[in-house]
Amino acid sequence: MSQKEHHTFQAEIQRVLDIVIHSLYTEREIFLRELVSNAADALEKLRFLQTSGQTLHQPELPLEITVVADSAAGTLTLTDTGIGMTRDELVENLGTIAHSGSKAFLQKLAEAKEKPAVNLIGQFGVGFYSAFMVATQVEVFTRSHQPDGEGWHWVSDGAGGYDIEPGEALPRGTRIVLHLKDDAKEFAENWQLEQTLKRYSSFVPFPIKVSDKVLNTVQALWARSKSEIKEEEYKEFYEFIGHDPEPPLARLHFNADAPLAIQALLFVPARNLENMGLGKSESEVNLHCRKVLIQSKAKGLFPDWLRFLKGVVDSEDLPLNISRETMQDSALLGKLNRVLTGRFLKFLAELSEKDAAVYEKIYATHSRFLKEGTITDYEHREALSKLLRFESTFTAAGQTTTLAEYVKRMKEGQKEIYHIHAAHRAAAAASPYLEGPRELGYEVLFSFEPVDEFVFEHLREFDGKPLKPAEKADLKIERAAEGALSDDAARDLAAFVKETLGARVNQVRASQRLVGSPAVVIDSDEMVTSSMRRLMKAMKREDGPEAEPGKLDLELNPGHTVVVGLDRLRRTDAVLAATVAEHLFDSARLSAGVLDEPQVLLRRMNELLERVVAKAP
Ligand code: ADP
Ligand code: MG
Repeated sequence: MSQKEHHTFQAEIQRVLDIVIHSLYTEREIFLRELVSNAADALEKLRFLQTSGQTLHQPELPLEITVVADSAAGTLTLTDTGIGMTRDELVENLGTIAHSGSKAFLQKLAEAKEKPAVNLIGQFGVGFYSAFMVATQVEVFTRSHQPDGEGWHWVSDGAGGYDIEPGEALPRGTRIVLHLKDDAKEFAENWQLEQTLKRYSSFVPFPIKVSDKVLNTVQALWARSKSEIKEEEYKEFYEFIGHDPEPPLARLHFNADAPLAIQALLFVPARNLENMGLGKSESEVNLHCRKVLIQSKAKGLFPDWLRFLKGVVDSEDLPLNISRETMQDSALLGKLNRVLTGRFLKFLAELSEKDAAVYEKIYATHSRFLKEGTITDYEHREALSKLLRFESTFTAAGQTTTLAEYVKRMKEGQKEIYHIHAAHRAAAAASPYLEGPRELGYEVLFSFEPVDEFVFEHLREFDGKPLKPAEKADLKIERAAEGALSDDAARDLAAFVKETLGARVNQVRASQRLVGSPAVVIDSDEMVTSSMRRLMKAMKREDGPEAEPGKLDLELNPGHTVVVGLDRLRRTDAVLAATVAEHLFDSARLSAGVLDEPQVLLRRMNELLERVVAKAP
């Protein structure tokens, strides 16, 4: 009497199978990940029973997974010593059960017309069926852990149901034999097999053996408790996942339970490849679910500006949520993203207090990313602004300050935070725009990278204090210089200079911000600084400095000897006075870095020098 029973698959499962068999061809190798993760689950369950003191069949068997490829026979066999299945469990788990996920999976496939989401198959609780992507026939030999269990044999070609019959006497656990399709025979080659297993299953917490060799030797450190991990292990782990021989600058290892279950181990690399001109980096944080790789270099896990991070994020919530909701994976990812980003920013803030030297190193290497975040990420702008560092007129060269420290030092009556852009510290310090703040005892932040100005522009304020380019500062120095022009005289002189310069200048007026310089130019556009003009010009924008000459205001220092002298000169020698006025304008533009043709200035200077030397007796 044959004890073979024929069963049909539940309708939904048959549909999943039809799709798996007939239309999924990309990323086929993930079947291996799914079968290994099922084996690992079965071993995990067995370990749990063991620790809870249950009587088990063959308690002495080591907990492990063995994979054997037989290229001659074209088969691949995966064996585990896990809990195994009884006959009823076989029927239920591999053929009938209303796997809640199968419906969601079908829906997801229907939605994704272009590229079926094969990679996600395991997250819908239908991972087992991915075996049919590569096999014409799948056999399952299994024996339950229960002491009175028996061996069972399940076989199916994926269409027309499956057969179950009592099997030979089997050791505890499950053996799955795949009869590979002709075009999938490569999986019976050891190198292909090992490569795929290493890629997806390196952190499975049970040994995976191929030809007696254990493939997964690096542990899933992120899932272990920090206190029992040695530095050496972190180092080895980073080398393995980061492909980086240089030790990282810092690491963040944390667990969270709410709002999502997350285990993460993140590293800040020692090098910034973008700074080295290697193009835009790609995030190297891998997403795992219970130690099994879901996506390497996972997209969307962090905001773009955190793309310098390397590491692992593991979330148990991933599959549950994904199969339960009708595929709001982007919403879930957004949630993960928010939690992870918030946590990492908090980590940096704490590090900057606890270990300033390490933070400075991170900042020196990766500040570009933090600045990019300040500009582009409204949600995290405030947290990021606290991480920014700048040199200033109050710091020693090479030393930096935070914005909060700046605010603490602000003078009474000072309402704004000032900053100035220059190529380097000496150039910034020599700027005429600093004369006013210096006179009033106000600190000015230095920015040496063009991106800084955009950072300030987007930040707009810190701690309620507006951020302002020093050249836009509306500062009045009360102390009048001796022999300075009267307000009326200054106004008349300004009119003369405006007439001389014509349309090249927008407005000429007396300045209240200058001490040592005779003149300064100010962009009449409230939003544009001279360095931005320079940048626009460098980017060959139409509205560069020379393209819009009338955009500049010229301010004259009524207390400066040259300006006072110019006022006298225009009454006796209007032609020479006009030349001096031109020269003041060009020098001010040169100082602001927005003079296009210094040759004109030099020619005029020579003319003036000729007149000076002609005075010699
Ligand atoms: P999931 O793993 O998400 O539950 P699968 O389709 O991968 O979905 O597997 C279906 C079920 O089959 C599992 O839940 C498990 O009960 C059973 N199963 C699969 N492989 C094994 C195995 N190697 N040992 C024991 N049970 C298994
Ligand atoms: Mg599974």
